[in-house]
Amino acid sequence: MTAKPTGMWDFLPEIDALWSRLPALESRAESHYRRRKLIDALMYFAEPDPDWGKLGSCRNASPCNSAICPVCVRRMRSSLILSGLACIDPLMKELQWEAAEFSVFLPDAHYRVGRLDRIDVSSIKAQLECLLELAGVPLGLVGANIMLFDKRSSRKQGVWKVQVSGVLVGVSASHIESKFQALFAPRTWTAGPLRSLDLAEALGRLIKPGLTRFVTCINREGHRRVRERQLQAAQIPEMALCLGRYELSVRYSLTGCRWHNGRLELMPGVQDQLQNLAPTQIR
Ligand SMILES: [Zn+2]
Repeated sequence: MTAKPTGMWDFLPEIDALWSRLPALESRAESHYRRRKLIDALMYFAEPDPDWGKLGSCRNASPCNSAICPVCVRRMRSSLILSGLACIDPLMKELQWEAAEFSVFLPDAHYRVGRLDRIDVSSIKAQLECLLELAGVPLGLVGANIMLFDKRSSRKQGVWKVQVSGVLVGVSASHIESKFQALFAPRTWTAGPLRSLDLAEALGRLIKPGLTRFVTCINREGHRRVRERQLQAAQIPEMALCLGRYELSVRYSLTGCRWHNGRLELMPGVQDQLQNLAPTQIR
């Protein structure tokens, strides 16, 4: 389990119990190593850019808050998981509101390698908010990841795709399924019920710690296999040029709650909204 930093999370009185539920996060040393690799790849493969400088000067006392900085992403992930647990777990356990987990590849967000500059990252956040509003979700935490899909045996260039993952409270998985069936193509999304026991892991899946690519290959038996890997050095600058211009907050969206004094709190009216749902949705 990740070592708990002293003093950093003292604003959460239940921190010891929460920390014991934290899924395996990458270590701080790993995140620093990834940042070094990121900077090296940019220096080697990209034109000099003032935005890269802030990555090198990112420190605990003055974080760069770049949406691509592995050290800041790690800090945000642990914050999102711990604060999400503190906010949502009591609702699921004591009040027994239903929860669901989903993931979907956004249908209009496909970009050939070399064309990721066409993406409007901030519009993804707006799409997420719109999606949850459309589905009538009272409380939700959603994260976005840009990933590269590569074919090892093909000369065709890879494709960047945007995957959105979320934890939703106060709605059933079947409700989300029916909405998604109408909105998205089959096999581009998944949705399922979420148990309190699995909440920490689900929150950990909202934002990926690294820069991911999926490689499709055919094994000796002729079966198609997809393996998850990290971006190669030459692939990093295109992603960094895209995400590195934004702050961390572009990677997630909150519905029905907000950050306040370092923790998540429900927006006014959400408790009542959930209360009205509870009688029909108690498991
Ligand atoms: Zn940083």
